[in-house]
Amino acid sequence: MISMTATLSADPDPRTTEFIARPQQMYVDGQWVESATGRRFDTVDPATEQVITTVPHSDAEDVERAVRAARRAFEDGPWPAMTPAERQRMIWRIAEGITARADQFAELESIDNGKSVAVAKAVDVTWAAEIFYYYAGWATKIEGRTVPVSVPWAPGSKFHAFTLREPVGVCAQITPWNFPLVMAAFKVAPALACGNTVILKPAEQTPLTAVLLAEVIAEAGVPAGVFNLLTGFGDVGAALSAHDGVDKVAFTGSTEVGKKIVNAASSNLKKVSLELGGKSPQVVFADADLEAAIPGVASGFLFNHGQTCTAGTRLLVEDAIFDEFTQGVAEHAAGLRIGPGLDPTNDIGPLVSREQLSKVTGYLDDGIAQGARALAGGGRHGDSGFYVQPTLLVDVNRDFNVYQEEIFGPVAVAVPFNRDRGVREAANDTPYGLAASVWTRDVSTAHRVAQQIKAGTVWVNCHNAFDTALPFGGYKQSGWGRELGEGAIAEYTQTKAINIAL
Ligand code: NAP
Ligand code: MG
Repeated sequence: MISMTATLSADPDPRTTEFIARPQQMYVDGQWVESATGRRFDTVDPATEQVITTVPHSDAEDVERAVRAARRAFEDGPWPAMTPAERQRMIWRIAEGITARADQFAELESIDNGKSVAVAKAVDVTWAAEIFYYYAGWATKIEGRTVPVSVPWAPGSKFHAFTLREPVGVCAQITPWNFPLVMAAFKVAPALACGNTVILKPAEQTPLTAVLLAEVIAEAGVPAGVFNLLTGFGDVGAALSAHDGVDKVAFTGSTEVGKKIVNAASSNLKKVSLELGGKSPQVVFADADLEAAIPGVASGFLFNHGQTCTAGTRLLVEDAIFDEFTQGVAEHAAGLRIGPGLDPTNDIGPLVSREQLSKVTGYLDDGIAQGARALAGGGRHGDSGFYVQPTLLVDVNRDFNVYQEEIFGPVAVAVPFNRDRGVREAANDTPYGLAASVWTRDVSTAHRVAQQIKAGTVWVNCHNAFDTALPFGGYKQSGWGRELGEGAIAEYTQTKAINIAL
């Protein structure tokens, strides 16, 4: 049963009401299509557990169709022949299309994922548009170099040598449910700027903003086959990752699936970039500005209800302030309002799915059974909707699962450290290396610890302070390659050397 009024606020954008009132389609080769089998699946509002609408359930045959379309558009279509300036204008129009529909994107993201509609608008939608604006600019600035060469066995000969930066080809892009639109923007925008063609496979839990993005891309005039959208499950991601007609796969999600993708990609040695999990430390020194650090560290692990790959979920707190600091964070967490994301006064919304709810509460039960103590929260909130209380655990040691594993919910553990023994080992005591933050007023402590931490991003006196121009990615098992900034241009191009004997 599709119930739309149950999920929307009193005064939604009329386009949102209209969007969820109809079954949605996928976008392949410039056409809105059903899946080859005609099957569909539901997408559910995690605040009400009601079905929002349905989308096509694609499978291997749809993968074949999409790969053929993307291949044709790459090899023969107008895309590679288009000038960089034409691509730039088209990508700019995608950014404008997202901006023009900001309310609709934010409402769909909120009902599909559970996050606050206010946050979805201010962060997810604004940032996604920003990413398309940023990479529109790059389309005209992807340059090779001239290289002075001295071919050793051709003394006296002259050469003119240079490099070209060429697109990789057909790119499969597999995205997660925690920031559905932003994760799509991270991947689609640089891929298009570099002249690739794309097949996007959003997470089964949150397909709706990807469908709306496809509408915006179509309206921007992007030629048929350049951008394709397949809504479906993990088997579609797996088929794309293994497909010999795909030249690159870009993935954000769990480390477990990342490893499967690496194996699948070995069939044709397609390029792989991965943005995986984390168990990021937030290191708090006794000299930190506690008035700023307490709410800052709390939102460092609670933002997006903790469903953030960079969530700072291991608080390493200098022993001299451990009790005062953890008490402050616990009070902050306990004071947050829990409720549906469509009410902008709520701070903590539901987790994305029942599966995620049982995963997170399972970790909490485990940790508490092993001896951890909850200074705030500790379990599910209410009995309908997938809500978890913001939770801070202490009395945790390093072999507890809650200390080692990515929980992906509003949960952090806090452990004291002693300044004289250093914090380097504790900060790096994880197979992950995505992000970290350091909280101190001492400039040399900040620099020293930032250099000691093995992570792709280190923030000082802030957490989750992203910027489109900064490269983002993981050390260790948090991933391969870099997204955002110039890093993504490197991921979506390959370098050709040309040497001309004169
Ligand atoms: P996931 O399984 O890694 O899903 C991410 C994406 O990969 C989805 O689009 C998924 O499709 C697809 N996928 C699943 N199996 C695949 C396969 N064998 N080959 C190719 N693609 C495949 O993540 P999840 O199950 O939704 O969440 C599990 C845990 O992953 C979370 O609890 C969290 O710890 C972590 N996670 C991390 C991030 C991050 O940003 N680093 C994001 C999300 C989740 P389906 O949606 O159909 O499964
Ligand atoms: Mg999964």
